[in-house]
Amino acid sequence: MAGEEVLSGGCACGQLRFEARGAPNRVGLCHCMTCRKIGGSVFNAFVVYPSDKVTISGESHGWEPSPGSQDRFCPKCGSQVFYTDGGDEIEIKMGAFDDTNRFTPTYEAWTIRRESWLCTPDLIGYPENRGEVTS
Ligand SMILES: [Zn+2]
Ligand SMILES: [Zn+2]
Repeated sequence: MAGEEVLSGGCACGQLRFEARGAPNRVGLCHCMTCRKIGGSVFNAFVVYPSDKVTISGESHGWEPSPGSQDRFCPKCGSQVFYTDGGDEIEIKMGAFDDTNRFTPTYEAWTIRRESWLCTPDLIGYPENRGEVTS
């Protein structure tokens, strides 16, 4: 479609690239143990797009954190770039975009794992996965 914004990004070495068109569905943070471990950082910031709005080029390898889902990374430099479960959405790591300050998260998941020093004002918090309520 004409007029759709196109944002690009990729891994640190540059062989794995993507282009994302239009507006994302949502932007969030995740503090879960899997996101911590795979990224080596204490939380994951990600941007969710409709799958058909994202074009990937280059080689990626995947790890399956749960059956049917894939965390895709560059086999050369190891950068985490995107996550997909094969459905109609794709989750791109915010840090993989070429531009900074393009997105503002609106929610955060797994706040029970959030570092106590981390300040994330104005975000909708979920104790575990988004939409799940634990008592
Ligand atoms: Zn790379
Ligand atoms: Zn997570």
